[in-house]
Amino acid sequence: MKNNWSYTEARKYIKKYKNLGYSKDLALRVYTSRLLGKNSELVLHGGGNTSVKTSIKDLDGKKCNVLCVKGSGWDMADIEPDGLPAVKLEPLLSLKNKKHLSDEDMVAFQKRNLINIKSPNPSVETFLHAFLPFKYVDHTHANAVLNVTNRPNGLSFCKKIFGDKASIVPYIMPGFGLAKKINEIYSKNPNINCLILMNHGIFTFSDDAKEAYNLMIKYVSKAEQAIKKLKVKKIKQINNFSTKFTPSEIAPVIRGLLSENKDQKFVVNFRSNKHLKYFINGKNVKIYSSKGTSTPDHVIRVKPFPLIITPKKNSSVDDFKLIAKKAFDNYRKKYINYFNVNRKKVKEKKVMLDTSPRVVLVQNVGMFSIGKDLKSSKIAGDLTDTNAKVITSVEETSTYKFIPEKDLFDVEYWSLEQAKIKKAKKLLEGNVVAITGSTGTIGFETYKLFKSYGAEVILLDINSKKLNEIQSKIKDTCIYCDVRNKKSVQKAFNQICEKFGGLDILVSNAGTAPSGEIGEVNDEILRKSFEINFFSHQNCASEAVKIMKKQNINGCLLFNISKQSVNPGRNFGPYGLPKSALLSLCKQYAVDYGSYGIRSNGVNADRIKSGLMNDKMIKSRAKARAVSTDIYMRGNLLLKEVKAEDVAKAFFHLATSKKTTGAVLTVDGGNIAASLR
Ligand SMILES: [Zn+2]
Repeated sequence: MKNNWSYTEARKYIKKYKNLGYSKDLALRVYTSRLLGKNSELVLHGGGNTSVKTSIKDLDGKKCNVLCVKGSGWDMADIEPDGLPAVKLEPLLSLKNKKHLSDEDMVAFQKRNLINIKSPNPSVETFLHAFLPFKYVDHTHANAVLNVTNRPNGLSFCKKIFGDKASIVPYIMPGFGLAKKINEIYSKNPNINCLILMNHGIFTFSDDAKEAYNLMIKYVSKAEQAIKKLKVKKIKQINNFSTKFTPSEIAPVIRGLLSENKDQKFVVNFRSNKHLKYFINGKNVKIYSSKGTSTPDHVIRVKPFPLIITPKKNSSVDDFKLIAKKAFDNYRKKYINYFNVNRKKVKEKKVMLDTSPRVVLVQNVGMFSIGKDLKSSKIAGDLTDTNAKVITSVEETSTYKFIPEKDLFDVEYWSLEQAKIKKAKKLLEGNVVAITGSTGTIGFETYKLFKSYGAEVILLDINSKKLNEIQSKIKDTCIYCDVRNKKSVQKAFNQICEKFGGLDILVSNAGTAPSGEIGEVNDEILRKSFEINFFSHQNCASEAVKIMKKQNINGCLLFNISKQSVNPGRNFGPYGLPKSALLSLCKQYAVDYGSYGIRSNGVNADRIKSGLMNDKMIKSRAKARAVSTDIYMRGNLLLKEVKAEDVAKAFFHLATSKKTTGAVLTVDGGNIAASLR
């Protein structure tokens, strides 16, 4: 393993943080924590932790010895001093001889000894860090270390590899008990500079930041070299076969089966690569993938075992559906059984989590990873990617062995672990929303509103330049899509299915506003308007309902119609006529798809300042009515200008009104002539 320490970088950190008022101790702690965190062979997504023992001045001016230890919710890769809350050291050390401390008491004790009560919760390994009498303590879940510990002869193998300055510690669940054990081991061997925790990871420590980091790299390299020397026997693979479906075609099937009820929505992310294929297509995948993760804390993200599906040769989506349904039923039974068997072995009462897998491995296709949003689905994918590497490497040289199921259960159902991923649920969490014409004023306002309620929103648009501009500012997915072209729509929706698993809400918003006296207007203008203002909605809606039917967890179509559909404006026929047809289309979808739980509603808005109704157009419409632009914009019963955000709110309202379909909501400040009758 490469040692990435650089004196130049270290000095930069010291200078930067000195200017921000932090000590050299803390600056170097930030620097080497990041070095560790950025190496995916060492830790992933908030795994591992580090600490530094230092002193800080409290408000009363008195110097206070503290342990700055990684706080919950922070990732070492981009940690800042704020992510290393300072806990008073003496009180922590005063519990060295305490026989037992419950999890709740441990958390409370750590919290009340924080220097700043607003700090994040200190790591569950805080006591372990405190008890080791070194300034810098580094902890990772290095792949190579897990590789050598997670095998039948792991203990003796490790003793050979790491030498006498490292102690090998049999598996104990993290928390106060582990801290006590480490304290006991260190007291007996004060010469050690490393602890190898079986089936968990590695600790290295020193009074010097660089040395603690060097030791980490040194010991991990030792493990890597030991693995290299082993005789490798490739794991047996199943025969390659082809199927009649693509990953994006079966993703909605999987997404639908994941929901225990129609309101529970998950995001499903697909990926495949060379080593994942090697893992998934192994003949014994059912055996080795069900032995657990590579380090215990992954279990809260990926559950103790994945769901494995083997499609039949040349099978269709419908064939897959049948096989997948059975596989899901069996998975749920297996999970319930796992829960029931293990909950009897613990004293406290446990409540079962949902029974849906977080990882679905489809042989000869790839991996679908699952989460409450895109971020957590990708984390589950990254962890499985790593677990697959460790497990296959062990299987090539031995047989994978992990902690007993009961120990994994203890971590999965540990309140301190669950607290890491539990957050208040937002109204649209897990929902996948696609918006067409999303770079426009109304489209973008709708994106912002739906996102604020926790939905995953995909922005579709034909304007690549604007789309790129937006993409450079936001993390959400932007996809080029010409809604007039069926193929372009299919391509965009396939991308959505592959990345998110499916679709729940379509906001069909794209449009243009051509005008002309109806008797005079060129046929081409009228036909073009029908393409964009009618057929494009049909293109998107027909693709959306295909996905929604496959998922079978309800769905919602939302159309941006227009008041023109019921109240034509003079010389606005080319715009109004397709909009009238769109109103009928909206109702037709409500009629044809209601029984599938798919709702179809529309918004009739009027006089919204946007790309369609720009300043020039507003001026000319106002002039035609002989009023000022301001009066024109407020020309409604409420005498108030209607804005894009008001239209967005109407879409949101319809999306969340679960018993409303075939309805049109008017957003025009009041216009009796345009009101529905
Ligand atoms: Zn750990």
